[in-house]
Formats: sequence, structure tokens, C-alpha cells
Amino acid sequence: MLKEALLWERAIGTSIRCLLCMRKCLIDEGRMGFCQTRYNQEGTLYSITYGQVSSVSVSSIEKKSMFHFFPGTLWLSVGSLGCNFQCHGCQSWDISHCEVKKNIGKTTFMPPEMLIKKAKKNGCKGIAFTYNEPTMWYEYTLDTFKLAKQEGLSTCYVTNGYMSPRALELIAPYLDGFCLDVKGAFMESYTRIADVSDLNVIFSNGSDAKRKFAMHVEVITNIIPGYNSNEKEAKEIASWIFAELGKDTPWHVTRFFPYGEMKEVAPTPIGVLESLRQIGIKEGLLYVYIGNVQGHNAAHTYCQNCKKIIIKRKEYDEIEDRLIEGHCPYCNALVFGRFSY
Ligand code: SF4
Repeated sequence: MLKEALLWERAIGTSIRCLLCMRKCLIDEGRMGFCQTRYNQEGTLYSITYGQVSSVSVSSIEKKSMFHFFPGTLWLSVGSLGCNFQCHGCQSWDISHCEVKKNIGKTTFMPPEMLIKKAKKNGCKGIAFTYNEPTMWYEYTLDTFKLAKQEGLSTCYVTNGYMSPRALELIAPYLDGFCLDVKGAFMESYTRIADVSDLNVIFSNGSDAKRKFAMHVEVITNIIPGYNSNEKEAKEIASWIFAELGKDTPWHVTRFFPYGEMKEVAPTPIGVLESLRQIGIKEGLLYVYIGNVQGHNAAHTYCQNCKKIIIKRKEYDEIEDRLIEGHCPYCNALVFGRFSY
């Protein structure tokens, strides 16, 4: 479905400057932007994926790497097509890097009301836009979130953080959870991993999400051997989280598995994840998790006062939440996060 886009301006003649993300594509008439989801038709910019759902499931919030955001609750997780990044090892290659226009026929149109109904019918705490970059169908996520808030549902983005500050500001009143994928601390790593050359906005959006808009923010970094697996990078990311988001902001360092154009890169050794986790802890972070490693002890939440396990995770869908109204059941210390009590 074609829907007139938000956040663009007329450039020269019938060309358009898209202002949704920091690529700021200049789009000539009859052409698409870099992400293939925005189309200039006769001098007006349209979203071509409004409501076109490629993936939908009911799953725990932990699957989105959000461990302190209503732990153990179910969420309606929804994705579409396209991306404004070009991550060579993208784990959702089929939907993010396919030819969007050609593949729309394989998606299902679901108006926002349908998602709300589905979320409520399945006992979901909220709706999370994930699988592909949520800003790719920004207008749809905004309409859905407005409705979700009216219906008492919570909302979440799993995002690369590359939206324009204006895009973040417009959606902020309706967005509760912000899982920020930080791919590295330096330009060189971002360019090699994702073909992105301006990373300042990713950090400032993360910081604004937390400080200016009071969202619940967690950070995830997929550790790719030889790309962002060095100690210097981990130290920089951890010290940024500490300084800008606060020491209690969870950081998830996750294991990379070969995929897409990075099939030749080996899976991240578990020892590397463990040493990067220690760097995060040394930098002062209270909750540094290891992800994508089944049964690892660093998937549990430990009380920062008495050090006992307070949320035990066997699998993403199997968690044992021992908290009592957001407090440690052993020493009564307050635990950082949002809880369903
Ligand atoms: S949202 Fe798409 S079209 Fe708009 S600037 Fe970003 S990549 Fe370009």
C-alpha cells in the first residue's frame, strides 16, 4: 500500500530529500531511496511498505534482548522489508536486503487495528517492531503505537538508531522501549560492518532516548571476530553507556554466527565474549549479558547487592523471575528496570 511519507522536503525540481534517516537520500522522480522503501512519485514521497508485514510472532521480550523491560512478558513482534544499513553479516538478510518492491507480494497487509487485536488476543504486553529496521515503515509504526497506547499496550523498537533526531522526537511520546544495536565505537568498524559513515547520530539518539524522552534503553552489540571484537572497541562502547545512559543500562554482547556475505567469518569464540563482558564490568556497568550462547551463566540477572541470581534464564522463553515487586527476594535491593507489577 502506498502511503504519503512523513519527513521529507522538496529539493531541486521534482527531486526530494528524504529526512527520515541520516542517509538523507536525494531521490529523483520515479526513483527509490537507498532503503528501497521510499518512492518519489510525481514529486511526492511515499512509503511503499505501509502495513506490509513480512514476519509476525508472539514471543518473549527476552528474544529482543530486553532483559529489564517487563521480563517474561509476551510481545507481538512484527517486521517488514528493507533496511537503511548494508550489514554484510545481517542475520535477517532475506527481508532486509531483498529487492523490496519485488517482494511486497510475499508480505501480508495488516492495518494497525489488526496488530492491536492480535496482541490483545494473545495476551501480549505490547508490540515490538523488530526483524528489520523499524524506521523503514515509520508511518505505520507511528500509527500503530498511537493506537497501542490508547489500548493500554506497551511499545518497543529494536533499532540501529540511524533515524533523524526529528523522527525520534515525533515517535518518542508513543515509544517505551528502545533496544539500540551499537555495532562498534569507531567509524572504521561501522563502515566495514554496515557501510555507514556517520555514527554520531546513533550515539546521540541513544542518549536522547534515555535522557530526553525517558525511554527504557538497552544496548546490544553483536561481536564479529576481526571486526569489532577488540578490547579497545568494547572499552569505548562500555564507557559511553556508563557516561551517557547510566551504569545500570544493560549491555548485551552477543555471539556472531556466519551469515550473508560474512559466511567465511567464524562464530565468535565464547572466551572472547567473556573477556569483553569483563571489560564492560570493569568500566562500571552493572548488567553485562552474553547472548546467543545457550546455558551461559552470564544470561542470568544477578542482584548487584547480594550477587545472587534473581532472574534465571534457561532459554529465552523459559525464565524464572524471582523478583518481588522489582526488589531482590534475598536482600530487598531495588533492581533497575520496568516490571509488570
Ligand atoms: S529512510 Fe530510506 S530513503 Fe529515507 S534517507 Fe533513509 S535510506 Fe534514504
